[in-house]
This record gives sequence, structure tokens and C-alpha cells, in this order.
Amino acid sequence: QPQPGDGPVKKRLGVMGGTFDPIHHGHLVAASEVASLFALDEVVFVPTGEPWQKDGRPVSAAEDRYLMTVIATASNPQFSVSRIDVDREGPTYTTDTLRDLRAAHADADLFFITGADALEQIFSWRDAEELFDLAHFIGVTRPGHTLTDPGLPAGGVSLVEVPALAISSTDCRLRVARGEPVWYLVPDGVVRYIDKRRLYLEDQDDHREGT
Ligand code: ATP
Ligand code: MG
Repeated sequence: QPQPGDGPVKKRLGVMGGTFDPIHHGHLVAASEVASLFALDEVVFVPTGEPWQKDGRPVSAAEDRYLMTVIATASNPQFSVSRIDVDREGPTYTTDTLRDLRAAHADADLFFITGADALEQIFSWRDAEELFDLAHFIGVTRPGHTLTDPGLPAGGVSLVEVPALAISSTDCRLRVARGEPVWYLVPDGVVRYIDKRRLYLEDQDDHREGT
């Protein structure tokens, strides 16, 4: 409990980064569960700009990924979406994301939420040391990825188990391309947006960015 003289209580801000191509219920459950476990005041979803770790496959336009994330989170008063990575030139680095969020929320402690798979690549990130000064890292389980301590600095990372949802954006895209349903894997509004914008259909390069 805060005591008199403790100074202002810092806001606890979750940061959920991702490509969100498309956002799905795995992302939403992970954010909701971590918000509850860590008593977060808010979770801000941050769709990547031009992705740098998705080499080999085209990624949907940032604006489409941003709008799907807005649609998926709009009904939750604890969730919001940031354009900082979408609006920044060049590839997205987590250090840039966290530095910019720090500047915009000087009064907040940041909790960066990431999948266990992404956590394993943490040492491939630029400025890995600085990352731990900018935020606390929370690695969440996802089916098919075993949760092991990647040997990161003590106290800088928490590993948590969230209800297992075997949903991935890759699977959602493949299902759309094959004409299979994605109802209940992604929020209803996202199903309709994918359909309206004709995303993920084979031979549809006009909505893509990059090569
Ligand atoms: P892709 O299949 O294209 O890699 P993805 O489903 O992994 O997409 P991302 O946008 O890459 O989605 O994920 C953003 C973050 O959410 C990552 O840290 C990822 O590990 C995590 N995440 C994705 N799916 C789940 C899930 N089902 N449960 C828990 N975390 C997840
Ligand atoms: Mg992924």
C-alpha cells in the first residue's frame, strides 16, 4: 500500500509489441492475463513499422495492421494502440519503441510483454543491455514453445504462463488464403476487415509493403 511521503505512485504501463498481421485472440488473452497478473493500469499495443525480423515473407501495409489492432482493442478501456512504430521511418527496433514510449509516458513504469519465442531472440536485438534499463520484460508462454529461462539478467525478466491458445498470425493468414474460416480465432471486426480489404488472398500483392 502507498504510504504518505512515498511520492507519486507510478503508472504501470504494459507494452505489447507485434507485427499483428493480423492481431488474434492469442495476443489479446496474453495482454489481458499479464495486465491482471502484474496489476497494469493499461496495455498499449504497438504494431511494428517496416518489420526487420520477418524476412522472407511480405508483410501487410502498416496502416492495415494498425487499423486491425484498433478494431480488436477498441472495446477494452484498458487497451490502447500506439502509432509510434508505424509512423517512424525505417525498421522497428524495440529500443526505439521503448525510448519513445518512455518520453511520452515519463510518469510510467514500462512492462514489455513478449512471447517466449521472441524472448529467445532477445540477444539478437540491438542494444540488449539498454532494453533492461528501459522496461521490465515479461515472457509469455505459447503452445509449441517451451518456457525456459534464457539466462537473462536476474530481476529484468518474468516468465508467466497464459491460457494456451494455439493461434498464430501465420496460421490465420494461411487459413484465409485457403478459404478457411478465421471466425473466433480473431475478433469479429477483424474478420470483416480482412474480408473488406481482401487481405491474405493468394496473388494479392497490391496491399503489401516492402518488396
Ligand atoms: P507470426 O505467425 O506472423 O509470427 P504471431 O502470431 O507470432 O505472428 P506476432 O505479431 O509476431 O504474432 O506476435 C506478437 C507477440 O505476441 C509476440 O511476442 C508473440 O510471441 C506473441 N504471441 C503471438 N501469438 C501468441 C499466442 N497464441 N499466445 C501468446 N503469445 C502470443
Ligand atoms: Mg511470431
